[in-house]
Amino acid sequence: MSTTLQKTIRLAERMSRLGTETAFEVLVRARALEAQGREIVHLEIGEPDFATPANIVEAAVLALRDGRTHYGPSAGLPQLREAVAEYTAKHSGIPVDPSEVVITPGGKPIMFFVILALAQRGDEVLYPNPGFPIYESMINFVGAQAVPYGLHEDRDFDVDVEEILDKITDRTRLLILNSPQNPTGGVISREGLKALADRLAGRDIAVLSDEIYHQLIYEGEHSSIAQFPGMKESTIILNGFSKTYAMTGWRLGWGVMRPDLAKWIAQLMTNCNSCTASFSQMAGVEALRGDQSSVGVMREEFRRRRRVIVDGLNRLPGFSCRQPHGAFYVFPNIRGTKCSSGSLADAILKEAGVACLSGTAFGAWGEGYLRFSFANSVENLQKALNWIGDWAKKKLG
Ligand code: PLP
Repeated sequence: MSTTLQKTIRLAERMSRLGTETAFEVLVRARALEAQGREIVHLEIGEPDFATPANIVEAAVLALRDGRTHYGPSAGLPQLREAVAEYTAKHSGIPVDPSEVVITPGGKPIMFFVILALAQRGDEVLYPNPGFPIYESMINFVGAQAVPYGLHEDRDFDVDVEEILDKITDRTRLLILNSPQNPTGGVISREGLKALADRLAGRDIAVLSDEIYHQLIYEGEHSSIAQFPGMKESTIILNGFSKTYAMTGWRLGWGVMRPDLAKWIAQLMTNCNSCTASFSQMAGVEALRGDQSSVGVMREEFRRRRRVIVDGLNRLPGFSCRQPHGAFYVFPNIRGTKCSSGSLADAILKEAGVACLSGTAFGAWGEGYLRFSFANSVENLQKALNWIGDWAKKKLG
């Protein structure tokens, strides 16, 4: 039902600077096509298609039965802060005290709160482009200057350390890193992180290190910039349960940061959410401390799917696709099709029945690319590749 509004409502000026995450818009368009009877393969949204492991679900059920249905501390339940501190120390070798952990409803609020807390008008924030769209949105929203750095295909989508360093000025307050990366699947090499850490030493520049895909790495081991001497105190690690434990809908994530900043981020939590759902947090304790076998099983299945989608995309006319080293996304170059990214993503949805994202959904420098999530079954990936292949034969020649 549509209503005609009689009065205008004045939005604050900052709202004109707020961006969005196109994946959710494409999902709505894809669902509308499904409502008209079309069959669509969903490769637009970045969430594991696996069920949350049963031991985690069981822990939440027990927590609900146990009365974990009330408010808790804004920074998170002590048990979960402890479990996160242990987990971070175990996976990255960084000693972490529970007072350095803030639990949030998903990893995204860490992005929101940290940018809100650290950047303001007159400051510059360096962020990856193409990159997760909320970085640019939030930098603009708080009135700071968004300074993009590139992620280039010919470097296998690793960062160019010299490019980042060249862009640092006296006004740079925050550097955002994301590895493994969304949307390219690139991983920042340990040498790259070390070079950055060496050159950031002694400078008052904070680093927001988004490590939400740290368990989804297909070659070698994950590295964090916080592991390098002197970097822990200026780094905020963003991590969470959504991708590693297939828990997107539970809304559960965390930040690891120096305790004085953790207090402020917890205060933002008090102002915004009060706390993260208590039963979700109890499930989080089980996720981190319980049986970890499902993490490896999911990773191996993603590895299998990665091969299917990379091979399939490389057979399409005008597409060329690198093998991603982490996360569950491929970012094929589509310049050979002579189409713009936006028009190609549109046509593939409407005419081929496959939902994917334009590279420009991740910033202007994503032109020339599409992003496909391979968090879908091999059967569906093959179906999508066949449909795009049939469509491309007719439309791209
Ligand atoms: N960071 C990156 C790079 C992501 O791709 C996502 C989700 O897609 C998030 C953070 C946020 O994850 P969540 O809020 O579900 O924990």
